[in-house]
Amino acid sequence: MSIDIGKVTVLGTGVLGSQIAFQCAYRGFDVTAYDISDDILAKAHFRFGHLAETYKREVTGADDDTVAAAQARLRLSSDLADAVGEADLVIEAIPEVLDIKRDTYTKLGRVAPEKSIFATNSSTLLPSDLKGFTGRPTKFLALHFANELWKSNIAEVMGTVDTDPAVFDRIVEFASAIGMVPISIRKEKAGYVLNSLLVPLLKAAGELAADGYANPEDVDKVWRIATGAPLGPFQIYDGIGLSTPYNILSHGDESDRQIAAWLKENYIDAGKLGAATGEGFYRYTNGQ
Ligand code: NAD
Repeated sequence: MSIDIGKVTVLGTGVLGSQIAFQCAYRGFDVTAYDISDDILAKAHFRFGHLAETYKREVTGADDDTVAAAQARLRLSSDLADAVGEADLVIEAIPEVLDIKRDTYTKLGRVAPEKSIFATNSSTLLPSDLKGFTGRPTKFLALHFANELWKSNIAEVMGTVDTDPAVFDRIVEFASAIGMVPISIRKEKAGYVLNSLLVPLLKAAGELAADGYANPEDVDKVWRIATGAPLGPFQIYDGIGLSTPYNILSHGDESDRQIAAWLKENYIDAGKLGAATGEGFYRYTNGQ
């Protein structure tokens, strides 16, 4: 099957948008990265430079030439109509705020060519929450990446009941073409596969330690030795950074909020935010 996707536009140049744009360009696609102002695009330019160095360090085969070629395929724009004018695919990675997304899809649906497929990278919203605002529900679905996608290269593809199966298949193929391992989610599911598994694991681990049943190191040891997993849940907390789980848990039920309070008092308030800051549940050197 020919996927017929050459030109990709990524909306949002934050943590995930910049990674998605860079990866698509690295894999040979013409990419336009859109954000709401030229000031933010100046920061995006810096982010892309940083990603270029990361790829040279961490991606097998990435060198000065391949990375420079990727950067040459990346264009920046703060004009939505200009950014999506020729897009075969628009990947949306703007803030996780329902009204901002709905407003953006309303504008996008008006200015994008009819051929464009729209994909949301939203982590917590369902594509059904947005499809009515796209003007093209048959060409709309979720394409969900993980942070640091050049190494955590899973892409979860999830449509709504309205998504055209041929569009779904093209996006699965596209995900492979940009170096991801595509996972087809057959029905809409909040949290996809990854967070449906990970969130309960992290909560259960938090409860065991916060309620004093076992210390974090021992919880991790049980998980690693008994299941063969390379990392225990508290090592995963450290990798993600403690702020994101804290924010999620502090909006949950009473038991979630108790875990959040424990994370805050014992770790976050002490500056132990995870691997990126040198210490979380464990100590790290060089961010590792
Ligand atoms: P972020 O805050 O780092 O970046 C968001 C970007 O969107 C910013 O550059 C911002 O200027 C821009 N923006 C704001 N309003 C906009 C608008 N109206 N139109 C276009 N751009 C706009 O956010 P992020 O962490 O990159 O998350 C973006 C999306 O990706 C969210 O839906 C999130 O759920 C999802 N996601 C994030 C992660 C993660 O680990 N950070 C992982 C998977 C999925």
